[in-house]
Amino acid sequence: MCGIVGYIGDGNAYNVLVGGLHRLEYRGYDSAGIALVDNTGKLNIYKTKGKVNSLEAFCKDKNTESKIGIAHTRWATHGEPSDYNAHPHFSEDGNLALVHNGTIENYKVLKEALIEHGCHFHSETDTEVLVQLIEYIRVHNDCSMLEAVREALKQVVGAYAIAVIEKGDPDCIVAARKSSPLVVGVGDNEFFLASDASPFVEFTDNVVYLKDEEIVLIRRGEPLKLYSLDNKENEIDVRKLEMSISQLEKGGYPHFMLKEIFEQPSTLHDCIRGRVVNDGKYITLNGVNDNKETFMSARRIIFVACGTSWHSALIGKYLIQDMCRIPVEVEYASEFRYSHPVLTPHDIVIAISQSGETADTLAAIKIARGMGAFVYGISNVVGSSIPRETHSGTYIHVGPEIGVASTKAFTGQVMVLTMLALTIAELKNTMPKEDIERIAQWTLRMPELVEKVLGLAPDIERLSLIYTYARNFLYLGRGYSYPVALEGALKLKEISYIHAEGYPAAEMKHGPIALIDAEMPSVIIAPKDHLYEKIVSNVQQVKARGGNIIAIVTEGDDEIRKIADHVLEVPEVPECLTPIITSVPLQLLSYYIAINKGKDVDMPRNLAKSVTVE
Ligand code: GLU
Repeated sequence: MCGIVGYIGDGNAYNVLVGGLHRLEYRGYDSAGIALVDNTGKLNIYKTKGKVNSLEAFCKDKNTESKIGIAHTRWATHGEPSDYNAHPHFSEDGNLALVHNGTIENYKVLKEALIEHGCHFHSETDTEVLVQLIEYIRVHNDCSMLEAVREALKQVVGAYAIAVIEKGDPDCIVAARKSSPLVVGVGDNEFFLASDASPFVEFTDNVVYLKDEEIVLIRRGEPLKLYSLDNKENEIDVRKLEMSISQLEKGGYPHFMLKEIFEQPSTLHDCIRGRVVNDGKYITLNGVNDNKETFMSARRIIFVACGTSWHSALIGKYLIQDMCRIPVEVEYASEFRYSHPVLTPHDIVIAISQSGETADTLAAIKIARGMGAFVYGISNVVGSSIPRETHSGTYIHVGPEIGVASTKAFTGQVMVLTMLALTIAELKNTMPKEDIERIAQWTLRMPELVEKVLGLAPDIERLSLIYTYARNFLYLGRGYSYPVALEGALKLKEISYIHAEGYPAAEMKHGPIALIDAEMPSVIIAPKDHLYEKIVSNVQQVKARGGNIIAIVTEGDDEIRKIADHVLEVPEVPECLTPIITSVPLQLLSYYIAINKGKDVDMPRNLAKSVTVE
């Protein structure tokens, strides 16, 4: 959600910053801006509502010469998207410029106090308070910008990643974070700063991930300096970046989403690699085998997640209850944190987030840890906050996901959850060894089987034309296919803006069945599993009320073919692996419908890729 980029070096700061903003566009935003100090010491700030392209057009005839600068894409939380609310914000005296990602919860009190001291505000944002406060402290305490930032942050309640530059000191950026990501790239005589490493991946692979409540002083020609809020100098831990430029490009596909859907055979392969080994005889998952006792003695597992990750968690519930016989609860992280949760040290909390930065999930982790639960994290982004804040965990290893609508991260999460359940089942001896081995062998075949499902793309593209102008969709499934129905509906809503509801197929009779008519298509996920006969009845119930049916069925299913209007056949796999197979046609269906409607599938309106605010 929103993005920050910063640069100091001998290169053209404007080009690096604007290129970086483009890379961060996938995170979701509504306005963009840039602050540069030119060689005469003038601070130039340009900002506009709208896309980074609009900012570039705006800057065309402006002075963009500079070797230092900060830039921002804003996802509005306080104040409408507008030119004046866009970042960077500047101090009353025009000395400082600041960009901010996050929310300042006590901004009203701080703003009132600053107004009493004669400050004038030019925006409706919470952010402007920060820059005014820093400059106020700098002038009144006659201190350095670094000290002023530190003092200001001590007064702030909320979440932030910030970067500040000073007109009078064009060799320095001060940046800090709390609950919002920030990473520094260390090049040869140049430094980069960004919300994630994608803006500078072609310039350096040396990175320093900032920790919560850490302030970094980036000064031209000097080594980085890291400080805690209480002014202790912290050690610099330079890591190697595991990201390549080709992962950030579309590679011949018209959209990142389509590329990511088609990447799934290889991302699943990467996800399984080294974990299911010796032809399925051995499964090893980070953080489980080294915490055997904890997993074996867990009395309960509670998942905390949001959005698509919450759907994966629901599949995780079915997997763990089936295979490990441990009771599982699945909570929206945003509700969990305010629900006065009851946890004990015998509980394991599993937090899932693609970005590893989801604000509500991080807050839920803090609560769980505070109550003594063991916390396991599942994320995709190496170096993100979740791996740092949890006791142990694992990555899904599917590479950067740029499309806002999650696809390969979802199947990666489900694959990791399958391996997690198998690992715990083996530890607890809750499943016969041969069954564990059989499913593990099937996991090894998933890349090839998903490849086969992708062969349905031309059929799905044709089918999408029939339903492009539907106003509502119903997605139905039972058992493992119920979370798939939820995820299919979410994909459609996110990118085509068609209202869609995912529902447990049997529950449909308690309400949504009233909506069924020839105008509302139902997508029914009906693989051959132990609930097959039940879902056939549900298919009939929809048909009997004149509904149109698109059914996802197992290859060779003639029964549903006779009832449904359209069938999409997927390969037969063990029941616990059906979600990975059946979710792929739904991703394609939503993609093609959105394309038919001319929607921006990679950057749907109002949405952000990683939700770093509450
Ligand atoms: N709260 C700030 C604003 O509304 C920053 C939002 C963001 O993270 O982009 O301007």
